[in-house]
Amino acid sequence: MPEGDTIHHAAMRVRGALVGSEIQSIETPNPRHRLDRWPERLAGHAVRSVDAHGKHLFLRFEGDLTLHSHLRMGGKWGVYRRGERWRRAARRAWLVIRTADHDVVQFDGPVLELMTESRTRFDQRLEALGPDILAETFDEAGFLRRLREDDPTRGIGDALLDQRNLAGIGNIWKSESCFLAGVDPWRRTGAVSDDEALAIVRGARPLMQESAVRGRPPKPWVYERQSLPCRRCQTLIRARGQGDENRTTFWCPGCQA
Ligand SMILES: [Zn+2]
Repeated sequence: MPEGDTIHHAAMRVRGALVGSEIQSIETPNPRHRLDRWPERLAGHAVRSVDAHGKHLFLRFEGDLTLHSHLRMGGKWGVYRRGERWRRAARRAWLVIRTADHDVVQFDGPVLELMTESRTRFDQRLEALGPDILAETFDEAGFLRRLREDDPTRGIGDALLDQRNLAGIGNIWKSESCFLAGVDPWRRTGAVSDDEALAIVRGARPLMQESAVRGRPPKPWVYERQSLPCRRCQTLIRARGQGDENRTTFWCPGCQA
């Protein structure tokens, strides 16, 4: 599943291709959007800005209209030079925006909606999102407040995945951030101190920011390394499903006591 760093990287590339360029065409090939008339509604409107919050991406057009996208498990944004071969099949494209120089394509996008700017501010799902771990200035107080309002018996690894506590962390960064801070992901959130919770975020943030620029995450310490020796202490890395959705958590029992 694409995490915050991947989405921020996509936002940077989409911004580079669309902001300041004339939009030549907008197409919504997926039948689900056939009746939405987006090409007509967006015709002649330039893209004013492109931004991300956690795993959500927003294309803000002139004229108060915003396209909201969330890739869920398998979606992807592609930015290609005109004429360059797309890396997914055209039938999987849900949105295609063309300029003189680029094709910007959202593939397999389960969440793609056109909303007014004011609705994005009052949309309950978006309003409920916690502070973005990739924001230029991270709202540490807001994160701690939300974490303390959450169930204190919930494992910290599971709580980090909840986008209402903190936006942008997925399965990779859940495991990696707990490792970097030396915190056992299975520890009850109520037994994790404020300093430890902030250490988790502060350890992951610079790596996620770097990944957002480079477009690929760093070599993992624990993610998908189950049964391999920890690169720091040689203890074997473990993996087990965690939380209501049973998402796999990876950890080093030696480093994360
Ligand atoms: Zn270790």
